[in-house]
Amino acid sequence: MAYLDHNASSPLRDSARQAMDAALGAWGNASSVHAAGRAARARIETARDQVAQLAGAPAGAVVFTSGASEANALALRGAVLGAAEAEDRITRLFVSAIEHESVRANAAALAETVPGLKLNIIPVTSAGVVDLAALRLALMQGKGRTLVSVMAANNETGVVQDIAAIARLVRTEAGEDALLHVDAVQAVGRIPMSFAGADADYMSLSAHKLGGPQGAGALILKDGVAFVPLIAGGGQEMRRRAGTENVAAIAGFGAAAGEIVESATEVMRVRNLRNRFETELRRLSPNVVIIGESATRLPNTSNFAIPDLPAETALIALDLDGVQLSSGSACSSGKVSPSHVLLAMGVDEMLARCGLRVSFGWNSREEDVDAAIAALRALIARRSALRAA
Ligand code: PLP
Repeated sequence: MAYLDHNASSPLRDSARQAMDAALGAWGNASSVHAAGRAARARIETARDQVAQLAGAPAGAVVFTSGASEANALALRGAVLGAAEAEDRITRLFVSAIEHESVRANAAALAETVPGLKLNIIPVTSAGVVDLAALRLALMQGKGRTLVSVMAANNETGVVQDIAAIARLVRTEAGEDALLHVDAVQAVGRIPMSFAGADADYMSLSAHKLGGPQGAGALILKDGVAFVPLIAGGGQEMRRRAGTENVAAIAGFGAAAGEIVESATEVMRVRNLRNRFETELRRLSPNVVIIGESATRLPNTSNFAIPDLPAETALIALDLDGVQLSSGSACSSGKVSPSHVLLAMGVDEMLARCGLRVSFGWNSREEDVDAAIAALRALIARRSALRAA
């Protein structure tokens, strides 16, 4: 079996599983003052330090959530609803055209329900990079407090955004009180990425893209920034996210983050696998289109389209051969419509329907590359035999 879908979910690392096992055996409520409660609290705080170190943020800025969908909702809603006084109200919300559905849907819902809030979608270039000239122009036009949300790297194409340049634009063109949210889910642990370096106000992370468990994530919050919790109730997470913490999931998230910080060679090894895959893919199908190739990309991701090989057909055939990949984002696979990311890049709709994604990770092997190439070769041969018949 070749699993090449780490951008959807990366298999659980052994270190994460061990930390989770240990935490499941310790049942204290982290808010209790007795020894069992304090032990649970200690596991959470260890994880907070580990996640903070990976994300280049102070530990106190890390708010644990149920995942990045919640973190994205918490950032956008927390900012807009938290800055509700007349003098600091946010009236302009900018999101890029290639954001994850959890950003797009929350931004649209806010624009529909919050009086006076206007949503502006920032286009990307054909390489999948946020169009900085368009962003500058949009920021300069009009007035009002601004919130910008841009992902650090795209889940479908792996294309990396120049967050430092975007932060500079936001700071210089939109005023001192402008706010920046960065969805860093796919970037953290794969490229150098730090909360402090990004000059962001909010940053979202997800455990299961890193080899941690599903159902854990974090929002990193700059000190004193506009914010209101989504879930009110208990005082957990310093009153920023109520509810008894999922200690095991948080411990697993922390352990995965800790392992990445310690590993000096993982990213290089993964990059070599991805590059070898693309070299062999070109040999196999010289007319393959590698999407986002001219941009800086994550080292683990390849999004490609082989003309006349529809993604849905390929996914099913490859799965039968034990090769698991994706036609884009996990959430949109299974849908007939082509990816909004590829369409935003101006990829022809027919070609976009052929877009496939492989994404490597911590336990990927040379054999996975071989298996994927062999399965694609067999599929292409079967299809040309059928056409010839
Ligand atoms: N943001 C990006 C860029 C993603 O790729 C994903 C997951 O696919 C999410 C947010 C949502 O993360 P989660 O599955 O933790 O809710």
